[in-house]
Amino acid sequence: MNERDSEQVARQLQQRGYELSSTEQEADVILLNTCSVRDLAEQKAINKMSNLQALKKRKGRVILGFLGCMAQSRGRELLDRLPDLDLIVGTQQFHRVADYVDQLLKEADEPIIDTREEVGSQNTIRDHVMEDRQVSAFVSIMQGCNMHCTFCIVPMTRGEERSRPLAEIEEEVKLLVAKGVREVTLLGQIVNLYGRHEFPSAEGHSPFVQLLHRLHQIDGLERIRFTSPHPIGMKADVIQSYAELPKLCSHLHLPVQSGSDRILKAMHRAYTVDKYRDIMTGLRKARPDILFSTDIIVGFPGETEEDFLQTKRLVEEIEFDQAFIFKYSERRDTPAAAMPDQIPQEIKEERNQTLLAIINRFSRSNNEALHGKNVEILVEGPSKNNSERLTGRTATNKIVVFEGDFRHIGQLLPVKVESSSHFTLYGDPVIHDGE
Ligand code: SAH
Repeated sequence: MNERDSEQVARQLQQRGYELSSTEQEADVILLNTCSVRDLAEQKAINKMSNLQALKKRKGRVILGFLGCMAQSRGRELLDRLPDLDLIVGTQQFHRVADYVDQLLKEADEPIIDTREEVGSQNTIRDHVMEDRQVSAFVSIMQGCNMHCTFCIVPMTRGEERSRPLAEIEEEVKLLVAKGVREVTLLGQIVNLYGRHEFPSAEGHSPFVQLLHRLHQIDGLERIRFTSPHPIGMKADVIQSYAELPKLCSHLHLPVQSGSDRILKAMHRAYTVDKYRDIMTGLRKARPDILFSTDIIVGFPGETEEDFLQTKRLVEEIEFDQAFIFKYSERRDTPAAAMPDQIPQEIKEERNQTLLAIINRFSRSNNEALHGKNVEILVEGPSKNNSERLTGRTATNKIVVFEGDFRHIGQLLPVKVESSSHFTLYGDPVIHDGE
């Protein structure tokens, strides 16, 4: 989501005649978009900005800006730590960044700080910086979150849930497809609850499922993904979509957070482990080849060894293909930060390592099971590590690197898997006679 917001800001600046520069040294304006989800992310952003302040001292005139979640939650207070900041813009004012940069370049006396909320700001994330032969794009369909998980700062940094009109999203996707995009990933903090406050259900379809159906009809769009959904929004109509909509990819990232009902309750997650299991079972029935990934927090306040064992058992049972395991991080003004029985760092670390080892085992064996088999991938472009080779992804979200012809970019291509590492499959295109 941050990448997407940054892209919107970059696009606006381009439209004003600014150019993206490839190094910090030659840039006149340096903007950092920030994440507040964990303390580590905030510390990284602060350190990075301190280094940029040093660059500014050496170089003289450079505009330095802090955007996004941390700008929103800390605002002016950031100037205490980072006195050379020129610009602090929160999550509902990304669309004004270009104005502010213009203004600062004209008369850079006082820092500009804008963390106001704004009705309709969710509708401003809609333009794209298209790369050459871009195959995949993010589309932001809503902003904010009303779930108030007790560990999470997002409702404070991104505000109330607000969704974009369905027709505008559809237009955006059509435009992307006309420019060559073949895959979209719909973005929202609780993306499968899209539109629940704004738009009615129709024929048993929630607004989110209505959106999936509409996008599915777009010719030339091959694949639809979305992130991140919330288990309470995985209702029958969403599950049924996996049986009805082949363009919906066979992969779901569904954050579970914990395998203990007691902890889920304390997290204010509003589902039980059994409910989560039922969702997985329903999805596997609707789409037998589906793979799952998840987010898990270890060391939430009060998490006992028994709670943790339940999480471990759930991870082993579901056989997640991938998972992000987070060590609980106290976020200020969240209910969990004030809870008793905060867990020591060493225990968080140990639990983190235990789960990572299990997940690595599963992704490795899932990958090895594919050796010698053909998979269909959407070819995205040159591989990041070796621009001579191509990369693409399976519908199950596995990265496949192979040697192939660049004319295949943007196509669905069968590839025979030869080998693999933890995160990547390596293979060769299956080319039939006469091609
Ligand atoms: N809204 C999305 C997640 C946004 S944050 C959702 O509900 O799925 C991404 C992940 O960061 C969360 O799923 C959670 O696992 C993790 N996270 C959020 N707050 C955290 C905290 N205080 N400490 C550690 N991890 C956290």
